[in-house]
Amino acid sequence: WLHGLIKQQREDKKDMKFNKKRQRFISETQKIRQGSGGVLYWMLRDQRVQDNWALIRAQQLAAKESLLYTCVCASATAGDVLPDFVTGHNFGAVVTDFSPLREPLQWLEAVKKGLPEDIPIIQVDAHNIVPCWVASPKLEYSARTIRGKITNLLSEFLTAFPVVAKHSFTAAKTAKAVDWEKTLASLQVDRTVGEPKWAKPGTKAGVAMLESFIDVRLKLFGTQRNDPNAAALSQLSPWLRFGQLSAQRVALQVRKNASPSVPAFIEELVVRRELTDNFCFYNENYDNIKGAYEWAQKTLKDHAKDKREYLYTREQFEKAQTHDKLWNAAQNQMVTEGKMHGFLRMYWAKKILEWTTSPEEALSIALYLNDRYELDGQDPNGFVGCMWSICGIHDQGWAERPVFGKIRFMNYKGCLRKFNVAQFERKYCSK
Ligand code: FAD
Repeated sequence: WLHGLIKQQREDKKDMKFNKKRQRFISETQKIRQGSGGVLYWMLRDQRVQDNWALIRAQQLAAKESLLYTCVCASATAGDVLPDFVTGHNFGAVVTDFSPLREPLQWLEAVKKGLPEDIPIIQVDAHNIVPCWVASPKLEYSARTIRGKITNLLSEFLTAFPVVAKHSFTAAKTAKAVDWEKTLASLQVDRTVGEPKWAKPGTKAGVAMLESFIDVRLKLFGTQRNDPNAAALSQLSPWLRFGQLSAQRVALQVRKNASPSVPAFIEELVVRRELTDNFCFYNENYDNIKGAYEWAQKTLKDHAKDKREYLYTREQFEKAQTHDKLWNAAQNQMVTEGKMHGFLRMYWAKKILEWTTSPEEALSIALYLNDRYELDGQDPNGFVGCMWSICGIHDQGWAERPVFGKIRFMNYKGCLRKFNVAQFERKYCSK
């Protein structure tokens, strides 16, 4: 399917342009060094070959006279190894993709410090359809304030991709074969969380999931996306999170359908998702209460001493040991499948606020569990999802009530009105 598309694009060369607004220079110098040994693409968040604006740009820069190398820093800190790698190979430019999160920005800063000043570093936003810095130059208040800005730019940015074709220069030396077992063993990762069966890594599996969404689930998305018992969601977040599937490709394919669900899906995939990069890029407190609006910080403070009917520790939450069967079922779904249904994520995080001693503790527990168990975790969507639920970002104030103050409240009764709660509890809660 993807190969078919690529073939078609090869024949149709009119969309071969790279819009330079997708790139920004991280280095002072903006001049590509001529007569160098090639261009390096340092792959970070967008781990795919096709449909990747950063790789497309790197290949364009390398096309004239030089070689294109791609690297991923799997087990070392980039600042410690990349500068020597670049100078050792006499590269003329470094191209990398974009993430608004703290750690990747620090890695980038460290690489910049370590590189000679005449080597340009070019960052390309290959994750968002409208580049984050083009969509808005500032922190947006809510989906309402960014929606128009993004949709007005879709005609410019939601374009077909040029193909990453076979590079015309061949390296004289081949790269040293990677010892994958050794590399995997060297990674300091939590190996106690098992691999869920339903999601296979890689672009091929992501494309298959996209196909099944379009063929089977898209028609239900518009009306049943808030029902955790219905198979109506795309299930694409793990592949989008790791950049194995491009959101732009997903949008292009989905928009070819006449289904009335299309606008609702594009709202989530494009507006809501790109709003989260905006939040993390322009708000350094994207993962703590200081990043919330003043009204939200005040209301949470005003209610800090309110009596909590139930209090649980992080361990009790993690083991799904609360009094609420629906909450436990949602937690079990996340632990066993690596993905909780989107509607329940809101309920789940809001109950953590209700059943802990402070919003700070609630946020830290929610982020810990989210990032430990969700396949799509450690992503701007996760920071924003937890911050939205617990401290009202991108939301408005609601009627004041205990513990929550003016933060939007959700309860079990509300869920009973929306979907068959007992069915979901039976599926994920044995007790
Ligand atoms: P679909 O409904 O099919 O949506 C398609 C895509 O649109 C998603 O893959 C995602 O990229 C985007 N999207 C959907 N809903 C949202 C949203 N509310 N905000 C931003 N983008 C959205 N999403 C993550 O990707 N990673 C997380 O760690 C994460 N944690 C969350 C935590 C909480 C407390 C909340 C309330 C939401 C969280 N979300 C997170 C957002 C959303 O729940 C998931 O993106 C969605 O459930 C993923 O499933 P899907 O791909 O089947 O979604």
